[in-house]
Amino acid sequence: MALDLANPAQTPHLRLSFEFFPPKSEEMEGQLWATVRDLAGWQPDFVSVTYGAGGTTRAPTLSTVRRLIAETTLPTAAHLTCVDATKADVAHVVEEFRAAGVKHFVALRGDPSGGVGTAYQPHPGGYENAAALVRGLRDIDDFEISVSAYPEKHPESPDEVLDIDMLKRKVDNGATRALTQFFFDNDIFERYLNRVRAAGITIPIVPGIMPIQNLTQLKRFASMCGATVPARLDPRFAGLDDKPEERANVAADVAAEQIDDLTTRGVNEFHLYTMNRAPLVNATLARLGLVRAASADNSAGAAA
Ligand code: FAD
Repeated sequence: MALDLANPAQTPHLRLSFEFFPPKSEEMEGQLWATVRDLAGWQPDFVSVTYGAGGTTRAPTLSTVRRLIAETTLPTAAHLTCVDATKADVAHVVEEFRAAGVKHFVALRGDPSGGVGTAYQPHPGGYENAAALVRGLRDIDDFEISVSAYPEKHPESPDEVLDIDMLKRKVDNGATRALTQFFFDNDIFERYLNRVRAAGITIPIVPGIMPIQNLTQLKRFASMCGATVPARLDPRFAGLDDKPEERANVAADVAAEQIDDLTTRGVNEFHLYTMNRAPLVNATLARLGLVRAASADNSAGAAA
């Protein structure tokens, strides 16, 4: 039975993780740390920091991760890609993250350096895909390793069977959790999960939830990621382009309804794409009846 979203007495026990990206300006830096402080009260299992295409944000990712570890008690995962990097380059970066205190990586192949839609060329001295990177990380240390999963298959994947086969290779090489690409149709996720389990994959497959800040922009981004945005969302956001408050309310309703429905299907772990903004995430989780910790211990030292 679905939760009564207006009845906090039915508070579910959900495990959460929050994804951030490294800030590109001083203003964005301030926004990120305000967001971290704000969201820490939800006591996520971990937070993660993305790694830019072609390794372009190695330094900002590293400094963001360093600060999260130094100034908060939030368990922090570093995303890592192997685009345009030799195995030695990757080992060097891993060493830097490890020295900063990182014990958990989100291991990814990364997008082709020519841009999404171009053919991926592994570096001749590097890892050919995420499965090989997972094996490389596992050989370096006993890290916790999360990987990607694609309920609507990766756009480069010839078919769903091969796509799940790649997930299986990542798990066989040592991945312990998969975080999914965002999706909005829970039936698609449930079908995918059934196929993943039928393939003998038993690690947690954690749905990636994207609260919709802007439907038009999201559609553009989703089409590059091979994710579909159901037409049923159009009328909900219609006419709200110039009404940010109403739009935010609808967005929080949509995300909370999606999470609530997934809980009725037995899912209790969620990875939220925060876009470095707290209000929509807060509104979504509050609608689910979740309660923040009284004092945000986790962010105690996260000064702006
Ligand atoms: P892989 O798992 O190696 O492959 C993806 C798919 O491509 C496979 O499922 C498979 O179907 C197909 N494929 C790959 N190789 C082969 C092959 N040899 N034969 C047949 N099929 C093949 N990108 C960033 O740059 N930085 C980030 O921080 C980042 N974070 C992400 C976090 C999450 C949770 C997700 C879902 C994605 C993230 N991405 C990030 C995007 C990701 O880098 C891209 O989707 C990239 O194109 C694929 O990387 P992967 O690790 O999923 O690749």
